[in-house]
Amino acid sequence: MTAYDYDLFVIGGGSGGVRSARVAAALGKKVAIAEEFRYGGTCVIRGCVPKKLFVYASQYHEHFEDSAGFGWTVGETSFDWKKLIAAKDAEITRLEGLYKKGLANANAEILDTRAELVDAHTVRLVAFGKTVTAKTIVIATGGTPNHHGALPGRDLCITSNEAFNLEELPRSIVIVGGGYIAVEFANIFHGLGVETTLVYRGAEILSRFDHDLRHGLHEAMTAKGIRILCHDMLKSVAKGDDGLKVETLNNGVLDADVVMLAIGRLPNSHGLGLEDAGVKTNEHGAIMVDDYSRTSVDNIYALGDVTDRVQLTPVAIHEAMCFIETEYKNNPTKPDHETIATAVFSQPEIGTVGLTEEDAGKRYSDVEVYRAQFRPMKATLSGRTEKMIMKLIVDAASRKVVGAHILGHDAGEMAQLLGITLKAGCTKDDFDRTMAVHPTAAEELVTMYAPSYRLKDGVRV
Ligand SMILES: Cc1cc2nc3c(=O)[nH]c(=O)nc-3n(C[C@H](O)[C@H](O)[C@H](O)COP(=O)(O)OP(=O)(O)OC[C@H]3O[C@@H](n4cnc5c(N)ncnc54)[C@H](O)[C@@H]3O)c2cc1C
Repeated sequence: MTAYDYDLFVIGGGSGGVRSARVAAALGKKVAIAEEFRYGGTCVIRGCVPKKLFVYASQYHEHFEDSAGFGWTVGETSFDWKKLIAAKDAEITRLEGLYKKGLANANAEILDTRAELVDAHTVRLVAFGKTVTAKTIVIATGGTPNHHGALPGRDLCITSNEAFNLEELPRSIVIVGGGYIAVEFANIFHGLGVETTLVYRGAEILSRFDHDLRHGLHEAMTAKGIRILCHDMLKSVAKGDDGLKVETLNNGVLDADVVMLAIGRLPNSHGLGLEDAGVKTNEHGAIMVDDYSRTSVDNIYALGDVTDRVQLTPVAIHEAMCFIETEYKNNPTKPDHETIATAVFSQPEIGTVGLTEEDAGKRYSDVEVYRAQFRPMKATLSGRTEKMIMKLIVDAASRKVVGAHILGHDAGEMAQLLGITLKAGCTKDDFDRTMAVHPTAAEELVTMYAPSYRLKDGVRV
């Protein structure tokens, strides 16, 4: 029998990698984990966490305005970008420390280096100039922003990575993309007082979300003063006398201090030695895996963003836990990618789970749509015109709620709870017999008694 240096070697210290390494080590396995940048990965260092902190920062401006309606007078306010960056940096350093502490407490060996495969059981530790062997390997190297190779002037642009550490808050920004990262950053920068333009080649922002929420959010963002240019794309970016000149296909030349590309993320699989080990990738560079996250090589698993299944932190963590069950607990477990609740931290927020109205119409012949649009209570005194939208999508035959979509304050928090109800297979009747919590916005979810309209074979009737 071959003796390996480790039972498990994990490449990548992000959400999925740290979870795999920590839990395997806690089970008594001999584990090492390699990270080339910072432990915590995208989510902690330059994704979910700093993003949410920025979202909070960007909301104060509206809170100050709203307070007047409730009798407050707020004195002169000002915002210090450098202070925010410093506070954010301190927090992510604290979290990074917690991730490392968790690994160390479980007795995983923490290696600060890039790691690459040499063969199916051998890993090169680039910073140390040596190789080690492992019985099992997990690749959890995540993703990286798409830098738009074809765009003239792309070197002048930033991505979300740099947006977290800009030296100065720009006066103006052009953000390219229509996905959740583009939309969230448009709201963040606008909220911090930056003149913001969003350029998106599609017909409407947030392509995979329910159409009502997409339109509703578009309107709300436009009403705040964010310029959204759909059906458009960049032709080039060049240095101007004062900032950047951004040439678009349909809207002429835009001036901006900063151009941010948020046009999707690519799997971090380049230069990993995958071919040497026999690990197969698809045409986009994503590592191909079976239902159990096993690659084309039996003892090598891949999970999280590098497999390009669903690019979310809880999904990477779930896939890691399934790997642990499969490999170390004699309990083969497939990650469950169905009915994933998720949020867009735009302003207003989106919280969503299950099928959109359009997808439900394709899957079920008779669909009931329950829809409410209303002014939230806080807006009555604050004077804000923002509207909340809530929608339940119901398969009429089984009465099951197959989709729930919310636009408005705390939509993400509500989506988490709705996620449980949809996962449990709750019917509309379960919603109807649930007592409302009053006065809340969420009570609308259990008081929409009659369908607003139906879809018969996908057609609204
Ligand atoms: C701006 C932004 C906002 C986001 N917001 C959210 C959100 O609100 N909610 C949500 O659920 N998800 C969000 N995400 C997505 C989330 O961050 C990812 O889905 C998640 O981090 C994926 O985890 P992972 O373990 O696959 O990879 P990652 O967390 O990316 O970790 C991979 C790690 O591997 C390291 N690495 C790569 N190659 C090597 C190598 N060869 N050797 C050693 N180390 C290597 C990298 O440095 C990185 O630290 C956001 C992402 C971004 C970019």
